[in-house]
Amino acid sequence: MGSIAQNVAELDASTFNITRSTNLRDVPLPGSPEELSHSYCTDHMVTVRWTAANGWETPEVKPYQNLSIPPTASCLHYATECFEGMKVYRGYDGKLRLFRPDLNGERLNSSAQRSSLPSFKYDELKKLVGKLMQIDGSRWLPKERPGSFLYIRPTMIGNGAHLGVQVPKEALLFIIAVPWPDFIKMKKEGQKEPSKGLRLYASNPETIRAWPGGFGYAKLGANYGPSLQAHGQAQALGFDQILWLFGEDRQVTEAGASNFFIIWHNADTGKLELVTAPLENQLILPGITRRSVLDLVSEKLSKQAVGPLEPLQVVERTLTIGEIEKAAAEGRIVESFVSGTAYFITPVAMIRNIDTDISTLGPNGEAAGYAAQIKSWLEAIMYGKEEHDWAYTVEHEEK
Ligand SMILES: *Cc1c(COP(=O)(O)O)cnc(C)c1O
Repeated sequence: MGSIAQNVAELDASTFNITRSTNLRDVPLPGSPEELSHSYCTDHMVTVRWTAANGWETPEVKPYQNLSIPPTASCLHYATECFEGMKVYRGYDGKLRLFRPDLNGERLNSSAQRSSLPSFKYDELKKLVGKLMQIDGSRWLPKERPGSFLYIRPTMIGNGAHLGVQVPKEALLFIIAVPWPDFIKMKKEGQKEPSKGLRLYASNPETIRAWPGGFGYAKLGANYGPSLQAHGQAQALGFDQILWLFGEDRQVTEAGASNFFIIWHNADTGKLELVTAPLENQLILPGITRRSVLDLVSEKLSKQAVGPLEPLQVVERTLTIGEIEKAAAEGRIVESFVSGTAYFITPVAMIRNIDTDISTLGPNGEAAGYAAQIKSWLEAIMYGKEEHDWAYTVEHEEK
């Protein structure tokens, strides 16, 4: 895999060089300007250097600080960069947990391979994150605030001087943690009338996020820079995210940094289905939340009803914006939502497709409640209300 030679050191998170900060920062309050900046990081960071000659060096934990890279660094010119998005959750039982972190490790490896960066033993990632949280977790996620989380950003860059076009011979893996606003809680508190969901703007044919043979399936910075202009334009028009379409038939792929789901009655059979785009053609990011939604619905909702929620059949298939428009016109849509680590499970209220506004709420103008049910199943695992093997407990000491 990747560019790694056979006889160089593997990434090993069993030993660390640790330098503690002597100048601890104030922990921002929920909703404070520091938190809203999305950039006010915790006291420490993890870094691991890699070279083609020697492989992975000993991981370091050190005070959060600027990186020093040459102006000729590969990542600055050739986008040799990939990243992950995860969260650490403060449970109602006081424990700190990660959610399915080995899936993040596997995906970071796959993204690294796609951007010519080195691979590593995927299960070391959770140990690196765990070490950072062992040190920063108790202060930055106070036990008095159960049900809160920090956002974790593992990142890999080609940091060596490589203005010549070539596979990077040096790389840096770093992990930072940042308090992140809880948009769901904030919206509830800040709005008189709760919004019924996101407003999505379907992309124009001249702006395509991903294509077969491309890299839409990998979590690369290179997917984002070119998409931000369309995102900014949609926001200026009062929309929350772009809904990325692909191809002549205008296939629905995903929305912003989240995967897209629709619940409708099948046009032919009338059966209730949960439909989302497939992974096979590599047009969408294989979201860990997406996988978990599909797993939970298959397990708990495909055969039996849950309260007022009727059973759903899980369908991963190509769907088009035309099908959604038709389903809306025929009153077959029951609910729609997006899934992702950063914005979790959020209902979608409507989609603008060129000059048509499509309501994606149920016939009575409300979401049916599937997204809310799935969210509460996931939260129970993340915050330790239910013991589950998707949760990975971080050992930490309470200060
Ligand atoms: C990160 C990301 C997602 C969501 O993935 P999760 O693993 O659920 O957080 C979806 N789409 C894109 C483009 C992403 O970058």
